Amino acid sequence: MSDSKSRLDPNNILKANGGDGNGRVTQNTILRSLPSKEFSSVFPALELQELPTHVVLNEMSEPIEFAYFIESGLASVLNVMQDGKSVEVGLTGSEGFVGIPLLVGFNSSPSRVVMQIEGSGFKISAKDLATVLSTCPKLERSLLRFAQELAVQAAQVAACNRLHEVDERLARWLLMSQDRIGGDIIRLTQEFLAHMLGTRRASVTVAAGMLQKAGLIKYSRGEVIIVNRKELEDASCECYAAIKRQSQSWQNEAKK
Ligand SMILES: [Zn+2]
Repeated sequence: MSDSKSRLDPNNILKANGGDGNGRVTQNTILRSLPSKEFSSVFPALELQELPTHVVLNEMSEPIEFAYFIESGLASVLNVMQDGKSVEVGLTGSEGFVGIPLLVGFNSSPSRVVMQIEGSGFKISAKDLATVLSTCPKLERSLLRFAQELAVQAAQVAACNRLHEVDERLARWLLMSQDRIGGDIIRLTQEFLAHMLGTRRASVTVAAGMLQKAGLIKYSRGEVIIVNRKELEDASCECYAAIKRQSQSWQNEAKK
């Protein structure tokens, strides 16, 4: 377990955040869904961290020291090529978790996971996570299910990047991001978007211009404002709906 001084006092956080009515002090969907007994087991091992933009949570081919339950902001899973170019293959906000390989006893990361939009998260050491997982079956299952959802994202995004136009991909990315961070304003640069979509910056400029001209978004240096969510969904390729449909279908199965 981490040093006692750095542990969070649940009562203090509860006061600070106002709590959720059930004594849960987290925005993270996985943590919020845990039975009380498991939540009590995992909570003392968690440490709340500010996660600034561009901070690397897990590095490709490096040991994973810490996993993260994201509270706010947006973390991006990147596949990095030898020449340094990278493409996003998954993204997660407060619904998710960073450190998937640890769930099955692997200790190195196959990808770089970086905060693309600043936020916060609960950090847990690899060692503490292993201890907690051995006594928390619901947590383990929730995390494995989330890993499966990320795999669906990666497969769909791979197909999307190969088959769909940049403006459709941009619409898809904006919708997925808005689902995870809430609000209408997404703070990012076009250079960042080019990385995310695996394309040239000039192509992103053209695509963003098309969406803006159609009245779906407004963009300026450093931010995109989603003006018309419904029409942005129509402008996206099928991939946004496909990922969401699969996720919803599994959530329904999980309730049975
Ligand atoms: Zn697509």
